[in-house]
Amino acid sequence: MTTRHFPPPALGRSRVPGEGLLDDRGPHFRPTVLAGAPRIGVLALQGDVLEHLRLLDVAGAVGAPVQTTADLDGLDGLVLPGGESTTIGTLLELHNLLGPLRQRIDAGLPVFGTCAGAILLARRALRHDGTPVEQTLVGGMDMVVRRNAFGRQVASFEADLDVTGLTAPMHAVFIRAPWIEEAGSEVEVLATADTDLGPRVVVARQGALLASAFHPELTDDPRLHHLFVRLVEEAETPRKRPVRC
Ligand code: GLN
Repeated sequence: MTTRHFPPPALGRSRVPGEGLLDDRGPHFRPTVLAGAPRIGVLALQGDVLEHLRLLDVAGAVGAPVQTTADLDGLDGLVLPGGESTTIGTLLELHNLLGPLRQRIDAGLPVFGTCAGAILLARRALRHDGTPVEQTLVGGMDMVVRRNAFGRQVASFEADLDVTGLTAPMHAVFIRAPWIEEAGSEVEVLATADTDLGPRVVVARQGALLASAFHPELTDDPRLHHLFVRLVEEAETPRKRPVRC
């Protein structure tokens, strides 16, 4: 089966609905990207793509929407956005992206998953009530996540969180967010949120993989994106070390 670009790039049309909105990227946007800036893809099958592209610009990277396996070539890093993890997982399979993505992660591609994206990075997902749920995950991080852990859409909330490595708290937007229920020994906990059950892990890192249960892209605070860009710059990425498919 061949993968199809839609709309074909040759037409020069925007590949993500609303992409034209990025022409007004606000005061932080630097139209001339520095030579050598890392190229970071944002999986653009479902979820909040534009918001990540905007903050990647602010964080000094060149953002690129990813919809096909060809789009994965030449990336230094990838963002898996928030949205709906079951939908994104299904679309990854339909677009023949699941295998190539797993292969690149194995080869060291840095990935930043936010909310649904964080769920996709887990090795196992649980429902809100803690029972296991069968869904397509990308994997990569040795963690189990509990989906919708804080409750339904109406239980969405915002909180100021201390994140390891950041000097001031981060304002965090949680929308039907997961938490990290179990983290393996290789997983470094970077932030927890207070819950009725005690603190629960909401930001974690394993090597060049970063997971955030909240949506940093929905605020103007680029610090987690900066952190990811730093991980990308430090990593030995597939682009620097070509992968054979
Ligand atoms: N609850 C969604 C899921 O399980 C994630 C929500 C989000 O990304 N804001 O996929």
